[in-house]
Amino acid sequence: MNLLYQSTRSKAAPITASQAILKGLAEDGGLYVPESIPSLTTSLKELSSLTYQQTAYEVMKLYFTDFTEAELKNCINNAYDGKFDNEEIAPLKEADGLYYLELFHGSTIAFKDMALSILPHLLTTAARKNNVTDEIVILTATSGDTGKAALAGFAEVEGTKIIVFYPKDGVSPIQEKQMVTQKGDNTYVIGIDGNFDDAQNGVKAMFNNRKLAEDLKAKGYVFSSANSINIGRLVPQIAYYVYAYGKMLRTGVISDGEKINVAVPTGNFGNILAAYYAKQMGIPIDKLICASNENKVLFDFLETGIYNRKRDFILTSSPSMDILISSNLERLLYLTSGKDSDKTLSLMNSLSEEGEYEITKEMKENMSGVLGGYASESQTAETIKEVYEKTGYVIDTHTAVGVSVYNRYRQINQDNNKTVIASTASPYKFTRSVMEAIDPKYGSLEDFELVDELSRISKVAVPAAIEEIRSAKVLHERVCKKDEMQKVVEEILK
Ligand SMILES: *Cc1c(COP(=O)(O)O)cnc(C)c1O
Repeated sequence: MNLLYQSTRSKAAPITASQAILKGLAEDGGLYVPESIPSLTTSLKELSSLTYQQTAYEVMKLYFTDFTEAELKNCINNAYDGKFDNEEIAPLKEADGLYYLELFHGSTIAFKDMALSILPHLLTTAARKNNVTDEIVILTATSGDTGKAALAGFAEVEGTKIIVFYPKDGVSPIQEKQMVTQKGDNTYVIGIDGNFDDAQNGVKAMFNNRKLAEDLKAKGYVFSSANSINIGRLVPQIAYYVYAYGKMLRTGVISDGEKINVAVPTGNFGNILAAYYAKQMGIPIDKLICASNENKVLFDFLETGIYNRKRDFILTSSPSMDILISSNLERLLYLTSGKDSDKTLSLMNSLSEEGEYEITKEMKENMSGVLGGYASESQTAETIKEVYEKTGYVIDTHTAVGVSVYNRYRQINQDNNKTVIASTASPYKFTRSVMEAIDPKYGSLEDFELVDELSRISKVAVPAAIEEIRSAKVLHERVCKKDEMQKVVEEILK
């Protein structure tokens, strides 16, 4: 049976999975959701014997029903291969009674690789299935992590070009170096003299520019997005929660059917939503812990039922979670309102017009399995130090937010469920914050001295992603003014 996708904001005719992947966002501004969440067709015990790639297939075949088995397996095998520096793709490490699901073994050492390494293959396959012959141009604005992961995913993928705009003075030195050294004839990286919002606004303006779209169409190009609202990014993320459960079962950490908790450091609500979907599909997940940094808009929402983005944007040591509008929350609103697209639309209108909305009591009750918490900057740093001193294991700032929140939850609630922590980035990506949390004396070292010191104290080899940029040649030097972004794109595609 074919599973179709509909918008969260209207009852417009549903479309196939491949069409939803191509479109990204619905025309009414809503996000695509499956008409129903499928149940796993494989028993937990059977799942526990599968490799990561096999698990990914068992999950994705239930969602992307208009892809053939060969097409899906081809996408999976091209995504989860030697680009990952660990055979298991998403290994599970135990430290001090918690189970860290390491999602950072891909080519850019952050969890974005889990979805962005397969999205290009899903997208080009979807284009073929729908007889789209135009070259796909991915336009992305980034504050650091998404841009590099999208570049790495789309580099050398036939039939695509990728253009990334980043704020010239608004990313970390390691993040910038990762992007401007990107190889691949179809990759373009441009620094703009503005902040992330300027980059994002410029990209949105190009997406909404009909004239530009027509001009490009005449030249054989079509724009697409690698943004996290694409269903082609959400579904692959479900696979690692299923894999983690199987792994715990296989290694005897849990018994068949035993409930686990999952804690996720959260920004745009994509990663934790994937865990929510895994639970609906039949993975025995009890509590889902949504961990925020000091931008605690989600914590306040889960406590009060009121989402209020009218607050200061705080720059923290976990920058990939510095966000006040969590786009993927819309999919949870839709589900917990009983798939009420009118209700979801009115909440989203209220958010854009008033900057806030309040959900109904019923919706709030339907969300009771999702608990919120947040960690301050000092709690995050203390957690990194504590985990290191107790176990020798070094975690990054984002993961530390998750652990800090979880430890407080466990203390208060005396909850003994085994718990998976979504470990979203390698500590090597945020070396300075991590090392200074462990010992302030590291403040005097240079970036790459810190890298070597981290390797020494953690006994973990420096990942290739970092080794590469130590001496890599800068290949992208283009810089433009924030109002010249379209001109640059037209030049690239002329
Ligand atoms: C993107 C990101 C997050 C937040 O994930 P969402 O799916 O946006 O909630 C957390 N940690 C890291 C390292 C990230 O790159």
